[in-house]
Amino acid sequence: MTRAAAHTPLIQQYLDIKARHEDAILFFRVGDFYEMFFEDAEVGSRLLGITLTARNNGGSADVPLAGVPVKALGEYLPRLVREGRKVAICEQVEDAAEADGIVRREVVEIVTPGAVVDESLLEAGRNTFVAAVARGAAVAAGSGAAATGPAAVATADLSTGELEAWECGPQGVADELGRLEVSELLLPADAAEPGPGPWAVTRREPWRFEAEVGRDVLKRAFGVAGLEGFGLAVPRDAHLVAALGAVVGYLEEVRPGGLRHLRAPRVHRRGRHLHLDEMTRRNLEIVEPLRAGDGGTLVEVLDRTATPMGRRLLRRRLLRPLVEVAPIRERLDAVGELVGQRGARRGLREALGKVRDLERLAGRIALGRATPREVLGLGRSVEPLPEICEAAATLRSAPLRSLVDGLDPLADLREEIAAAIDPEAPPAVSAGGVIRAGHDARLDELRAVRDGAVDWIARLQAAERKNTGIENLKVGFNRVFGYYIEVTRSQLGRVPDRFERRQTLANAERFVTPELKEWEAKVVEAEAGIAEREAALFRELRERLAAEVGRVQEAAERVAELDVHCALADVAARGGYVRPEVVEESCLEIRAGRHPVVETRVPAGEFVPNDVVLEDESRIMILTGPNMAGKSTVLRQVGLIVLMAQAGSFVPAGRARIGICDRVFTRVGASDSLARGQSTFMVEMTETAAILNGATDRSLVLLDEIGRGTSTYDGVAIAWAVTEDLADRVGARTIFATHYHELVELADVKPGVGAWNVAVRETDDGIVFLRRLEPGGCDRSYGVHVARLAGVPAAVVARAGEILAELEGGEAGGTRLAGLADRSRDQLTLFDARESRLADRLEGIDPDRLTPLEALVLLHELKASAGSGDG
Ligand code: ADP
Repeated sequence: MTRAAAHTPLIQQYLDIKARHEDAILFFRVGDFYEMFFEDAEVGSRLLGITLTARNNGGSADVPLAGVPVKALGEYLPRLVREGRKVAICEQVEDAAEADGIVRREVVEIVTPGAVVDESLLEAGRNTFVAAVARGAAVAAGSGAAATGPAAVATADLSTGELEAWECGPQGVADELGRLEVSELLLPADAAEPGPGPWAVTRREPWRFEAEVGRDVLKRAFGVAGLEGFGLAVPRDAHLVAALGAVVGYLEEVRPGGLRHLRAPRVHRRGRHLHLDEMTRRNLEIVEPLRAGDGGTLVEVLDRTATPMGRRLLRRRLLRPLVEVAPIRERLDAVGELVGQRGARRGLREALGKVRDLERLAGRIALGRATPREVLGLGRSVEPLPEICEAAATLRSAPLRSLVDGLDPLADLREEIAAAIDPEAPPAVSAGGVIRAGHDARLDELRAVRDGAVDWIARLQAAERKNTGIENLKVGFNRVFGYYIEVTRSQLGRVPDRFERRQTLANAERFVTPELKEWEAKVVEAEAGIAEREAALFRELRERLAAEVGRVQEAAERVAELDVHCALADVAARGGYVRPEVVEESCLEIRAGRHPVVETRVPAGEFVPNDVVLEDESRIMILTGPNMAGKSTVLRQVGLIVLMAQAGSFVPAGRARIGICDRVFTRVGASDSLARGQSTFMVEMTETAAILNGATDRSLVLLDEIGRGTSTYDGVAIAWAVTEDLADRVGARTIFATHYHELVELADVKPGVGAWNVAVRETDDGIVFLRRLEPGGCDRSYGVHVARLAGVPAAVVARAGEILAELEGGEAGGTRLAGLADRSRDQLTLFDARESRLADRLEGIDPDRLTPLEALVLLHELKASAGSGDG
């Protein structure tokens, strides 16, 4: 399709540019449209539901074409990007009037799923990350080699300029990517995918993931001679440097205009954060509910932040709590003081509420994308900064003081913006009226000239009416002819010679005079001058602000931290949370603990608090109790309380002493990994294996039923052996909720294992859930009672009760059950035969081919045969 000679120059230019952006849909600016050609046109028209047409291509065959109006970019672009597509925006970069031949065009940005700055594609409360993965030296030799060295994930948020690198174990990459909620993942062309994920994958040449290349990219991007300032050294940190370089190199490509807001990389070494694997993040419902739509996540309960920056930070903190006592205590000090100082907290929250998304505004300004309204927004966002400092005046704790005292009020930026931009500025510079009167002498002059000319024209109507005596003479304006004098047909006789006819209407004629044309030219000229001047002034201001973007980002960071502390303090004060005592020793004592989410979902005052102590004699807790008693709730609340404490939050409890955990593992019920084609039991065992292999004596392990997906004996045997291993070898603090009463015996024989149960009381008509933890095992499962609660028919429940009584009465359950079946054999056989005949009959029916009437007749027949017993 690309025989060069045959194409028109426009299509040739398109093909040249497209060749450099093979993997993107090219939006090729032609006048007021972004046009897509060839395959892009076909894909675009399909995905966007727009018309596919053809463009004449000189001598060769017509070219498929689909276009979107430039004005509607904001509507169409997000749809393509959400589909996981990349879109390269190619603009006309010179004035069509000045072009010598075909207008020069350039790709000015590439919008990808992970590299976006448009609000329509961003979520205020979470980051949008593009990430790259690189492996350490041990495996760099060949991509097929077993992953043994450390790995690194680098992430960048183009909208905020954040750049970070996360070190992780060779097997930890997929977990890390999930935790970071990555939108787009860069991978070497020859590398395997780290696992399934919601991210879009972008393949890049393998050399882009080399540490040497990465080092050069970073040095150039940050204008530094070496990476020591970032705490990075090659070869030690080859993996981190490689990942960072790959991400930055990519961003440079998608933003050819520069990345002035990109922040110096923050490096997170291994072991500096509480490790939460994917299962645990899901099971504890930290940011997403287990089943969509069920609602109720930890972040929802805790998110009382007032700013988008704060919201994003809180979410990140909950997904990555700390493991060092000192910084956790610092956070708790901050929250503690704000809990105590209600007035200061309220004042702070009020002031914080006025700050808009400083981080993203800064990003848009640095990328040269900010509109006049956004620049005004920046000005208004920094306005409340002094108010924040004032509200914090009475606060004394070191972490809050240091946050507030270092907060740059950015007064100079605010003043500069206020002095330059009209508070009523339109969204686009081209609309005019962006720069304030009095700000620029030249602009004021041009405006005076224009206003004078407009004034003269405005006065013309009265003057000419007087001169000509035409009472209804009118001066008007239209886009084609400019200013004119309109005279109705009946008055045409009185028109003087100096009027030149321009346009004839049904009952009027339009004229101009040389003088009017002269003044009109003055208006036009002045307006062009004004537009140019305004654009230049706005650009200059944006440039100056862009140079200060680092200060804005730093202030935004402080605002975000203050916001998170205030939010957590507010939740703590309202919810009656306490400050956890966070210590090094591997202990865990929670008194009167509550589940932060479940307690908000039961009627007020009805949540039953519970004590959980995992140390010494009951480092491992075997937790029994009937279904629905509250086992999972206790289990999860312990995980959540530990996580909250280590994230620097107060906790829903009467008192809590928490020894730092290095990892929290959970395995709860059957997960929907089923959808990935594994059997429940296989999933369960894979998860159990990961726990036994990954847990240490400083970990917290929360198991909710294991061995359920297999036969009872199998299940008990596995559960028993797993518990033994956790007790003898691993030494992790563990809660094991199970319906196998047999496991309770472990508590008698194994030191460090204790048995507890969630109490129920039996009454005449069933059981009452007390939701209270009590020492000792529970000797029965009450499944029959729960079946009744669930609405299983009374006859079935009664029969199950009979069978249960028989089973519990005897030593050898198996034989007795056979006996039971024996007694009912006649009945069963009769039923079986009838059932199988019915089944055969049903088998032969194709519901899609039945008319409603046939279906009704058939239903009658089936009912009759079922009833008679001889179907
Ligand atoms: P199990 O794991 O034993 O089957 P769950 O922990 O899922 O039971 O609890 C079942 C329901 O009981 C929960 O959804 C909640 O509504 C209620 N519940 C659990 N624990 C408590 C409690 N401590 N106080 C009040 N209600 C509770």
